[in-house]
Amino acid sequence: MAGEIDARGVILRLISAIEENKAWLSEIDGAVGDGDHGINMAKGLSMVRAGMDTQPDDLGGLLRYVGMTLVTHIGGAMGPIYGTFFMKMGKSVEGRRSIEVEDLENMLSQALEGVKKRGGAEKGDKTLVDTLDAALIGYKRAMKEGMGLGAAIDVMIEHARRGMESTRDMVAKKGRSSRLGDRSKGTIDAGAASCYIILKAMGESIKESD
Ligand code: ADP
Ligand code: MG
Repeated sequence: MAGEIDARGVILRLISAIEENKAWLSEIDGAVGDGDHGINMAKGLSMVRAGMDTQPDDLGGLLRYVGMTLVTHIGGAMGPIYGTFFMKMGKSVEGRRSIEVEDLENMLSQALEGVKKRGGAEKGDKTLVDTLDAALIGYKRAMKEGMGLGAAIDVMIEHARRGMESTRDMVAKKGRSSRLGDRSKGTIDAGAASCYIILKAMGESIKESD
């Protein structure tokens, strides 16, 4: 049985991680898009932080609140997509105060399915799907090898990083950067990068409270 999750701590950690990387996220978005991804994410997440105290403190409920807040407060393409990401994650651990190794697999796979359905992106389209898909594959592999939550999270984070890196040589098929065609090659996708930052922060924080 895993220990109790500090759900607020998990969310605050991911907000700080995005804030710390805000300039970089906008910079890489600027290479192929309009350069606002870091600003958009930080703005939406600052609304999350502002309203968090009056929200439920179980992981499922809090993730759902994050999703609902982001749908309304992130500008650009990512509001509905990150909204779905967090709402689906939350739904798979509704009312839970601790999580087992299988729960994180559910969170990742529900988020991936939801994001793909919402935005229509598939693996290889140079979006956050590439990070999330790689994270899930890595995590499943680690589970199959019998790893516990902490070790499986480390594998998940490393795979997410590689998924993010893999977008560098891809041609964008979705969103603003897809207008550039072949010229969208050469930079990591901004959404793939924010997704890595989020998964890493969440994973490390869950590990610590385990
Ligand atoms: P905008 O493109 O409106 O300026 P952002 O800059 O905040 O929005 O986000 C850009 C990111 O959105 C891209 O890097 C990509 O990862 C992601 N994205 C765009 N369209 C889609 C989609 N249809 N499905 C999944 N992700 C998408
Ligand atoms: Mg943008």
